[in-house]
Amino acid sequence: MDAKKILFHNKKISYTLRKSRNARRVRIAVQSDASVVVTVPYVAGEEIAERFLQDKMQWVLAKIAFFRGLEKVPMVRYGKRDYAVYKENARVLAERKVAHFNVRYGHEYRNIRIKNQKTCWGSCSKKGNLNFNFRILFLPEHVQDYIVVHELCHLKELNHSKRFWGLVAQAVPEYLQIRKELRQNKIGFV
Ligand SMILES: [Zn+2]
Repeated sequence: MDAKKILFHNKKISYTLRKSRNARRVRIAVQSDASVVVTVPYVAGEEIAERFLQDKMQWVLAKIAFFRGLEKVPMVRYGKRDYAVYKENARVLAERKVAHFNVRYGHEYRNIRIKNQKTCWGSCSKKGNLNFNFRILFLPEHVQDYIVVHELCHLKELNHSKRFWGLVAQAVPEYLQIRKELRQNKIGFV
């Protein structure tokens, strides 16, 4: 592993050069933290990596922008003023999704509240109130669904036990993958 830099239209792009005995061709990967890894066959030199990167730079930059965008998505990009604007839309969304998923669970809840929190996507109170961050509006739908189901299941299991995850899995079988997405992109907690 070797930290390198390459110049593209006067912009410095950092990447890691990896030499692999198994690699037959040059490969580029942009990780979910927006870092770039170029893997080359063991005998290949840095020039080959550079040339390949230059060729694929539009794709690389698009990927970097995509992952950076995710990092910043909701928690940083939207502030107090947006809360006033989007709160009611978020409420409509949360109420619709809670109703939809609760057909399966049939849990009892009291109020659905929309909040402006900095690190938290949702919570469930002992009294049975469901709270959601208004920025849930700006998440991909499968993540919205996971967050709603997560809080709905806390109505029965106010913990993160095996039983709790078993309940979540009934409606969102791929929940592990979505949790990983949330963690990797550092976009908050539930
Ligand atoms: Zn939880």
